[in-house]
Amino acid sequence: MHNKYYLGAISFILLSLSAFSSSQVYAADKLVKPKLVLQITVDQLRGDLLFRYQDRYTKKGFNYLINQGTVYRDAHHTHANTETIVGHVTLATGAPPSGHGLIGNIWYDRDLGHSVYNIEDENYQLLTAGADVDKNTELDPTQKAASTEGRSPKTIAASTFSDELIIATDGQAKVFGVSIKDRGAVSMAGHGGKAIWFSKQSQEFVSSNYYFDKYPQWINDWNAKKIPATYADTAWELMNERSTYTFGEKDDNPWEADFAGYSRVFPHPFGGLDSKYFSTLLTLSPVGDELTSSFAKELIINEKIGQDNVTDYLSLSFSSTDYIGHFFGLSSLETEDNMLRLDRTLSDLFSFIDKNIGLKNTLIVLSADHGAPEIPSYLVEKKLQGKYVTPQDWDDLDQVMAVKKQLGIKEQLVESYHHPYIYLNQKTIQKNKLNLTTVQNLVADSLVSIDDIYHAVSSNKIESNQLPNTKINRAVVNNYFPGRSGDIYIIFKPQEFISDMDGLKVPSVHGSLWTYDTFVPVIFAGKNITPKHIYKRVQTVDVAPTMSAIIGIKAPSASEGKIMTDVFDD
Ligand SMILES: [Zn+2]
Repeated sequence: MHNKYYLGAISFILLSLSAFSSSQVYAADKLVKPKLVLQITVDQLRGDLLFRYQDRYTKKGFNYLINQGTVYRDAHHTHANTETIVGHVTLATGAPPSGHGLIGNIWYDRDLGHSVYNIEDENYQLLTAGADVDKNTELDPTQKAASTEGRSPKTIAASTFSDELIIATDGQAKVFGVSIKDRGAVSMAGHGGKAIWFSKQSQEFVSSNYYFDKYPQWINDWNAKKIPATYADTAWELMNERSTYTFGEKDDNPWEADFAGYSRVFPHPFGGLDSKYFSTLLTLSPVGDELTSSFAKELIINEKIGQDNVTDYLSLSFSSTDYIGHFFGLSSLETEDNMLRLDRTLSDLFSFIDKNIGLKNTLIVLSADHGAPEIPSYLVEKKLQGKYVTPQDWDDLDQVMAVKKQLGIKEQLVESYHHPYIYLNQKTIQKNKLNLTTVQNLVADSLVSIDDIYHAVSSNKIESNQLPNTKINRAVVNNYFPGRSGDIYIIFKPQEFISDMDGLKVPSVHGSLWTYDTFVPVIFAGKNITPKHIYKRVQTVDVAPTMSAIIGIKAPSASEGKIMTDVFDD
């Protein structure tokens, strides 16, 4: 009693004093603990795309966030390899890959002698027999690198916001991550939360035994409804009159992918239940996001999310924008219709949350894991520049390097090139009694003579801090994690990329450090957050520490972002 009064008096004095000394002091009631933190990550939602179709959004979907939130109009990822897992974990941890360890969707494991998938873990198998999401999907070929269907967050080397929330509440906070993609769910649920994702093989939401011993009954119940099957023999059709779309008359573009009878033009048929790509095609349409939202609503009710005074956390990562972007491009009728439909999906979800938890009790944080380029042929049609890079045309990578001849190396010098990293064969270097630093630098220098390559950074220069402090170098440094990053990081020229996604040819591939790939929206909306749009440049590592500050907990362990104080300003 006595102590409490005493502390109260001290903090009153401190507050009064600091109020005179700084304008950066905010009333204590700004720190309001919401009942729910809802983190929405829209996969491949480039910063401008959100606003492109704003005039046709409903009042309560995206427009709730745009009109009621603090909206950052110039937010960027600051790491070089703008891929899905990298962006998600950056948003979750407030750290770049150099801090959290997720340097790419795939990296080469020198000990194993092959590439590995970011969240694979043979120790934690899927709970659903036959739901092997790895081998049967053509749409997410990055998963083919996995040698097990097991999944866990063990590779994430830092704590996440969701982990910190669990610590701050001694485990009373309920923490969930849901996505069509396993990596969209595992990343955000952190180490302490529960991740659930969609299996294209079993057409169910699934998880691994890292998270559950067995499924709660409500997950079995949702899966038993077989909602995906209700889309059999239907098609993705335009939601509105064709003439109302910006791209209404530009549906059929030769550069779009015509995947397994899905067609380049509306309607896009999903096929029958027994067709090989049925559930894959559902995720290559707005249906994937509708399933995610449907599942999330069931989760909110059954797990009693946001029903007590302990702040809960739910992450929803919506994947359709990404798949559609890869196959049709961001400047396409498909992406336009998907954005309008995602707006409806969010509007429906927000009104559900308003009814069951209250939007005023919910902090919503929206961002994206990465942006996207325009398709090169589309740019060329507009007289702009863009092209696909085909490393096969560099002859054998080894041949390109006069380095081998120069150093008298006869053995294989490049052990693996999985863009953006080249991994050199260390045995070859040792056998020839060469210095790794010298070889890295010679190879990097020789690569720059290839026309498509803008810059090549050798890792010893990162380790010895020898790089000039440029934006490009900083992005590569931010992507460097010892033991996972390769010897040389290759950067292509702007608007140039490999159209090959691990064996699947797609017209649009993100992953560069250029602004179209780093540019994402960042929005905070909820109680006591003032509606405003902010045009100064901010970084995605700022998101997690800001979320922590809003609810008054400590930032994740490797967080290096700054608190975005505008969310506290009136
Ligand atoms: Zn992505």
